[in-house]
Amino acid sequence: MNIIGVDVGATKIATGVVSPEGEVLSRARFPTPSSRGGLLEILAQAIAKVSAGFKVGGVCLGVPGLILARENKVVFSPNLHAIEGIPLKDELEPRIGLPVSIENDNNAAAWGEFRFGAGSEARHVLFVGIGTGIGGGIVTYGQLLHGAQGAAGELGHVTVQATGPRCACGNRGCLEAFASGAAIGRRAREVATERPDSALGQLARALDAERKVLGEDVTNLAREGDEAALSVLEDAGRWLGIGLAGFVNIFNPEVVVVGGGVIEAGELILKAARREVQLRSRSPSRELVEVKEATLGPEAGVIGAATLARDLDQTDTFWARGDTASPLVRSK
Ligand SMILES: [Zn+2]
Repeated sequence: MNIIGVDVGATKIATGVVSPEGEVLSRARFPTPSSRGGLLEILAQAIAKVSAGFKVGGVCLGVPGLILARENKVVFSPNLHAIEGIPLKDELEPRIGLPVSIENDNNAAAWGEFRFGAGSEARHVLFVGIGTGIGGGIVTYGQLLHGAQGAAGELGHVTVQATGPRCACGNRGCLEAFASGAAIGRRAREVATERPDSALGQLARALDAERKVLGEDVTNLAREGDEAALSVLEDAGRWLGIGLAGFVNIFNPEVVVVGGGVIEAGELILKAARREVQLRSRSPSRELVEVKEATLGPEAGVIGAATLARDLDQTDTFWARGDTASPLVRSK
């Protein structure tokens, strides 16, 4: 049965009808409205549009923020406050006539990469999604780790330096504060001032008040060989590797998949991250683990949400979303 996956982002809502083989059969995208009522309306419209002409069995929304599993709602979403507290399942099911469930967006992407992407050959997979912030998902023994309340997998908010910069979560020195898209942009603006003759420094001056230097500018300049931009990405990669080394020691994964928009920078970040993992994680985990770039790209969330819904449904726990909800699909 086809399932609709929905990736609810802070700026856009992406939907797709996903086949049991992980193929996206139909797609629709809408800008994310900022009001609560607008959000429900657009979600219902997007689902109706994408499903036209297809037989579908249900909908799974991948949403940014902290979800409490028993309540089936987002309790905290720093980048999309409009979604906080909405009983999404209860509000949407009568409007669209299909069963609805919700999942953290990075957990959904982790499941997508585990089932059909860079982690599809493994049973123990960590996913780190680097966008504006950093999220994560943990697959261990072929099961998605939800934790006691559904809040597990916040890999971006592990402290890597106790006195480090303030993170969006309020804590200091989280991995997110060093290696996210926002952190790369912030560090790039500092380096542009320190090295005004670099291409990065020149871009910052040329942009002046028009807009700030962003993570994607840094990637573009690094690809052209600008040393200043390369050093910013290498630095972010090093911090990423410091975080990953800790996760590798804890979970002993076969594969760490790094995804999200920032991974467009690819090896410019991953090379330093891999080096740090090899320096800091323990044997035998460090010999086993492979740090790989995600392969499903921006559709990982849509594919993962839909596939998670289908896999969990087979264990009869999903649509009711009890606290034991977690599929076991690969038991080799
Ligand atoms: Zn944090």
